[in-house]
Amino acid sequence: MNFEQAWNTFRTMHDKLHAISHALGVVQYDAATVAPRGSAEGRGKTMGIISEMSYSIQTAPEVNEAVAYLLENKDQLTPAQLREVSEFNKSNEFVSSIPMQEYVDYTVLINEAEDVWHRAKQENDFASFLPYLQQIFDTNRRFALYYKPDNKPYDTMLDMYEKGLTMEQADQFFSDLRSHIVPLLNKCMQAPQVRDDFLSRHADIATQRTFSDYLMEAITIDRRYCGIGETEHPFTTNFNKKDVRITTHYHEDALVSSMYSVIHEGGHALYELHSGDEYEGTFLSGGVSMGIHESQSRFFENIIGRSRQFTTLIFPKCQELFPDVLGDVTAEEFYRAVNKVEPSLIRTEADELTYAIHVMIRYEIEKAVIAGEMQVADIPQEWNRKYKEYLGVDVPDDTHGCLQDSHWSGGSIGYFPSYALGSAYGAQMLAKMKESIPVEDCVAEGNLTPITDWLEEHVWRHGCMYDPGELLERAVGAPFDPSYFVRYLEDKFGEIYGV
Ligand code: ZN
Repeated sequence: MNFEQAWNTFRTMHDKLHAISHALGVVQYDAATVAPRGSAEGRGKTMGIISEMSYSIQTAPEVNEAVAYLLENKDQLTPAQLREVSEFNKSNEFVSSIPMQEYVDYTVLINEAEDVWHRAKQENDFASFLPYLQQIFDTNRRFALYYKPDNKPYDTMLDMYEKGLTMEQADQFFSDLRSHIVPLLNKCMQAPQVRDDFLSRHADIATQRTFSDYLMEAITIDRRYCGIGETEHPFTTNFNKKDVRITTHYHEDALVSSMYSVIHEGGHALYELHSGDEYEGTFLSGGVSMGIHESQSRFFENIIGRSRQFTTLIFPKCQELFPDVLGDVTAEEFYRAVNKVEPSLIRTEADELTYAIHVMIRYEIEKAVIAGEMQVADIPQEWNRKYKEYLGVDVPDDTHGCLQDSHWSGGSIGYFPSYALGSAYGAQMLAKMKESIPVEDCVAEGNLTPITDWLEEHVWRHGCMYDPGELLERAVGAPFDPSYFVRYLEDKFGEIYGV
């Protein structure tokens, strides 16, 4: 084997894997959006076969040989090529550590589990989802141990979503946040509450669809390359940088629910749409980690989307589209309403302040279950107990409790901390950005370009070239520091609630 042969083998393998993941992604997107409810069974078989193909391509002996050759001849690789081969090698070590049948069975399990979860959530029936959830937790623990037998399994899972993250760091991060958020929350709760009654007025869904198009444009999404669908749980998926899909969920009695889903998912989409051209068609294209991804989505949703400047900017359009909802409301009332702080049941609807507590509850449950300190069957009871302890709310049923999120049914265990980390990364990026850009003035004028240019330059275009910690440090010129997030929350909510 020579360098050229090894590189060709590697590149061909990438292209095949990418084609397979494209096909699988379209099937999954279809399943989540328009496929009829009874279609899961037939799709499961297709997905099993496709994932078997993917496994075989990735773990083929000639691929292993090529990767070994390339890693032995590092000096012939460019830095990007070296990064690509090394990153592939790491993910391949994970996949190769799993026996093929177990890998395939898991894909089939997830396909079924998503369907079962969906029904269980609608019917408040945790018992029907329990056997699937049990298998998902067991399988994830087993896979983590196949991959890194000497690591604590949950550390391995955290690291897969946010490279370098450990339970020790996450424990510290959450306890820091909690020590600042809880006192601030208590102060806000003692202050007069803001008015938000109008947000539950009837908002026509067809008009909300028009509003989504407006919002996507407002945050600079190029619609030639980004579509929008409707699902139970909003998400973003991308097939390449010119085909990104976001979804939302419309509620007739909660206009801002979809509004902020669209802006959140739009933030994910922008990151994918602006991945560097030089990385397209390689393993380095697209977002590097869930934490950085959430930093972008939550930057648009909260730092931009829930700013006084942005809500004021779009308010005339909101009033025009929804006169029955906002006709008798001022822009300032609208701003305060979308920033209302209140301990609540649903993570995706939570305000910026209590959001991290929702995440912390999920983190603590995952950690305990994976460590064998909590039974999967006890999740509902533990969930409800923690909501009462941390947020003071009573969970009425599992639909509004442990069945609310789609993550576990999709096999994502270790993902949740990324949301809270993302919020904190975003606040640190904002502080750095403000050194060179009048961020608030730009938003007030409806000119997001200096902001998106900054993000493109420092985050988006780098694809997966750097680890998340390094990417953040290069962007902001300092190591990760959650105190920016705490200050951001204290300033913003201190002003709104006068505390
Ligand atoms: Zn997100």
